[in-house]
Amino acid sequence: MLTSYQLDKPSLSWGEDGAPHSNQFDDVYFDKESGLEETRYVFLQHNQLAERWKAFENTAFVIAETGFGTGLNFLCAWQDFLVEAPCDKQLHFISVEKYPLTKAMLSNALSMWPSLNQLSQQLIDAYPEVCHGFHRIELEQGRVQLTLWFGEAEEGFAALNANVDAWFLDGFAPSKNPEMWTDRLFQHIHRLSHQGTTCATFTAAGIVRRGLKEVGFDVKKVKGFGHKREMVVGELRETSAPITKRMSQGQAWFNLRQDKTTEATHVLVVGAGLAGANTAYALASQGINVTVWEQGDRIACGASGNPQGMLYPKLASQDTPGNRFYLSAYLHATRLYSQLDKNKSFWDPCGLIQIPKNEKEAERFKKLLNGKLYPEAILQASQQRAGSLLLPLSGWVVLTQLCDTLLSHEKIKVCLNTKLEDLCAINSEEQTTHWKATSNTTEAIFSHVVLCTANDTKHLDIAPETPAHSIRGQVSFIDIKKAKAACTLAGEADKKTDIDKVLCEFGYVSPSINGLLHFGSTYDLKDEDNQVREEGHKRNLSILESLLVVPKGTFDSKACGGRVSFRCAVPDYTPIVGPVQTDQIYQQAYAELSKNAKWQSDDIMEPTKQLYINIGHGSRGLISTPLSGSYIANLILGTPSPLEQEVSHKLHPSRFIVRDLKRSQAH
Ligand code: SAM
Repeated sequence: MLTSYQLDKPSLSWGEDGAPHSNQFDDVYFDKESGLEETRYVFLQHNQLAERWKAFENTAFVIAETGFGTGLNFLCAWQDFLVEAPCDKQLHFISVEKYPLTKAMLSNALSMWPSLNQLSQQLIDAYPEVCHGFHRIELEQGRVQLTLWFGEAEEGFAALNANVDAWFLDGFAPSKNPEMWTDRLFQHIHRLSHQGTTCATFTAAGIVRRGLKEVGFDVKKVKGFGHKREMVVGELRETSAPITKRMSQGQAWFNLRQDKTTEATHVLVVGAGLAGANTAYALASQGINVTVWEQGDRIACGASGNPQGMLYPKLASQDTPGNRFYLSAYLHATRLYSQLDKNKSFWDPCGLIQIPKNEKEAERFKKLLNGKLYPEAILQASQQRAGSLLLPLSGWVVLTQLCDTLLSHEKIKVCLNTKLEDLCAINSEEQTTHWKATSNTTEAIFSHVVLCTANDTKHLDIAPETPAHSIRGQVSFIDIKKAKAACTLAGEADKKTDIDKVLCEFGYVSPSINGLLHFGSTYDLKDEDNQVREEGHKRNLSILESLLVVPKGTFDSKACGGRVSFRCAVPDYTPIVGPVQTDQIYQQAYAELSKNAKWQSDDIMEPTKQLYINIGHGSRGLISTPLSGSYIANLILGTPSPLEQEVSHKLHPSRFIVRDLKRSQAH
């Protein structure tokens, strides 16, 4: 467990020529005179990338690197990929960095390479906050995907789920950085590679050659760049076990085999709320044709259709897989919204203030701030409200406009008033190859299906049983002028109703849009009433009065409008995202778990049915659906996951049956 998501800054000095030098390692990031040529010679040429890119068969080519540094190697690979690879192919570049440069340092270092300017600027714009964990950055409209692990190299590769084609073994020289080149690092390099995976490194040090040889790479020394005598290249000859088997690490039940035999030709996404729109967008931006079926007469007609939604991540005081998911998803969502909302019309990153609900929470906030678990850019003390937290990256979104933007991708076709009625697997031998989907209006064949059907999932025969349940939520709104007048009448004329940040306490209020102040929301269990109720407005108004610090009864419920929708929530507060398999198959394959909860297995489940689910986002869909959508797209395409292994287990649709199997041992 981590005690902080913060990372040490690199200590740099800048040479007279402007090149960065690491004081921590007493080594240079690159050579000012020939850095570009050296990168191309060592990493690109000696992994034979140009030749391989012209001819490769998979959807994506995967490069992994030790030491992202200034991103120079990545930029060169990206630039050459655009020239050499067919335009329907993707580049996935994974890199790890223990001392990430700040945006300003990155910008300074990259200004030395004018020929890369256009790409560097895109990288700088999309560069994530410096915070421990994985960060997925989508460039070239999704064709180039960069996955950065900020933290120790070995830890990042241990958490990674990917099938790497070529390695750039950078990182400072082993003599200056012996801690990085460990046996464990080489074991992970092997685990993440397949037969034919290549590697290239600038160093010819014995520790690197031996490490690679020991895990099965054929290694040879070749002429180094410029005046350097030698460097090393390698290729993995031995046939490794299939990728999922190598990934399972004893927990085979969370690693259903990804079916490479069925190409993702046309994917059906069921549901056009936030989960569906983000899943469709992630697939489309990776070149896949997507059809979205929505039973309603408009997109975002359920819980994703509230007029204004806010990003409220509830950051925990401890590091857990669940918190890592929400933290990583939160940062991902804020980056995506800024990227999508070019005209600044539906996303306002105005910041959010979290006010403590009681003494106990006030204490927790103090600990959270003193413990420095999060970087200041993510969490800090509010200067506006004493004792409160400020989340500067947060804000609010016009939900329907966001969903509309996501679904407007040219590779997505949305069919409204189209209700999925039947899904029939078309099998060859023992394996599902396609799905025949039938709706009230049409019938079609798809290679894959993703259910983003929230509370309606339970009505679908094909869907797995989950503990997801519906929770009624009523939001209210009031004319801001009327609200101001009510405050004046209550003798609180100095109180601001035109707030500039989202405020959260027992509920929330967002800065006004179109003259209306939106606030809420009720949380009604076992309540199916879809009508707006005055009693709900009253409860929401008491939330608002507390947030604005005005006396009870300041506002009149008769002046409110509202909307009711139903969240799809899961008891463990974690969405259900991943491949679907039936409980019976689990009970048979992993029956041993009910005798021994500590049992481990690498026997991964046989072919999935190309059926996936993405539901249970509760009140936090604005945070969790973009990363969940990307994750599903990567599962379908067999490309690197944006989630830590442990995090993907936490989200797994079969986690409930695994838990039950383990528990039955206790009885
Ligand atoms: N590939 C980089 C580029 O294109 O700019 C240059 C990499 S620089 C020579 C080496 C990088 O490895 C540094 O940024 C350093 O902070 C990073 N590094 C060193 N030890 C590490 C470790 N144990 N885990 C992760 N990153 C590490």
